[in-house]
Amino acid sequence: MRYNARMDVKQQIPLSQFSTMRLGGTAAYVLEIHDRFAIAAALAWAKERGLPVIMIGVGSNIVWRDEGFPGLLLVNKIKRFEEQQEDDENYYVTIGAGENWDEAVARTVAKGMTGIEALSLIPGTAGATPVQNVGAYGQEIAQTLVSVEAYDTQTGTLVNIPAIDCAFSYRTSRFKTADRGRFMITAVTLHLLRRNPQPPFYGAVQAYFDEHDIHDYTPQALREAVVAIRRSKLPDPATVANNGSFFANPIVDEGTLSQLTADYGTVPHWPAGEGQVKIPAAWLLEQAGFKNFHDPETGMGTWPAQPLVLVNEHAAHTAQLLAFKQQIIDTVHQKFSITLEQEPELLP
Ligand code: NAP
Repeated sequence: MRYNARMDVKQQIPLSQFSTMRLGGTAAYVLEIHDRFAIAAALAWAKERGLPVIMIGVGSNIVWRDEGFPGLLLVNKIKRFEEQQEDDENYYVTIGAGENWDEAVARTVAKGMTGIEALSLIPGTAGATPVQNVGAYGQEIAQTLVSVEAYDTQTGTLVNIPAIDCAFSYRTSRFKTADRGRFMITAVTLHLLRRNPQPPFYGAVQAYFDEHDIHDYTPQALREAVVAIRRSKLPDPATVANNGSFFANPIVDEGTLSQLTADYGTVPHWPAGEGQVKIPAAWLLEQAGFKNFHDPETGMGTWPAQPLVLVNEHAAHTAQLLAFKQQIIDTVHQKFSITLEQEPELLP
């Protein structure tokens, strides 16, 4: 490992340490970014050398190719937590993109704020949340997000993008689609309310409240419910290599649902806009035989309590993960004619 004296650029770093799936080749150069004003200099450094640049958080939603990345990897470590109080109820909280998301959620919950407590325990950084409009248990970041601060690589300036210009929809945004790679997110500003969350709650959350005889619906109570539900279903990426849900929940038209119901009886589904329904990808995987599935060939498996989570049991190469993923996609497609979409980003 060699260092660049001026900017502490490290060389030849295994990318597996920047992915919770713990796979991938080598990055030619890696630099931590602690300050939003350091981005321009880092990009100039890369440009001088003709290197491509990628910015990441902690890699909780990234799969790196075995070939590695021959450019400069910027690791976002920008810390910031600023609160602006408008009145007794309305708060604006600006969170640095490199802050650990769950710690930021905990801070807002400790202050009695509602808005993001159902997004507790989601791995990764705050700056990653707008990219796929992270959502869970009835909340999504688009509901509270006021603006995204980012370095615009097209104009070379820091910009503030209001939520309305983020093209948010179900688990997606402009940062993942039309403007993929253009903006380096440096902070998010959220509008949170200092009051209790209002029912109705997501089914699993209400079931937890009922089971534990909880009637005082505070942000803390909702956070604790979500943490308990997530812990019971999902592996901790600190101990088990995984990227969370590996496939998005497919949205299909009602005709497809009717056909599935004719073929398979009851199919769980929820409305997802006009003429469309959302089907749990976990159900499709279970029906296709991937519940608690362990594949000795690739070293990959599915998490016993949630088949949507692919787990690296002893895979050494991304090629093995990709082969396992394809086996699932093909089997599900053969059975249901639905093509599952991978959720984690394959880079570079
Ligand atoms: P789950 O709760 O078993 O639900 C599976 C699917 O059914 C999801 O598409 C979910 O919609 C839908 N669903 C369940 N109850 C619903 C209700 N009362 N009303 C409308 N739709 C309902 O899902 P899970 O896989 O264990 O995940 C738990 C939560 O984490 C879900 O909200 C899921 O979306 C979220 N999650 C988000 C991400 C991400 O942001 N990338 C990744 C993994 C999981 P919703 O998706 O709209 O909730």
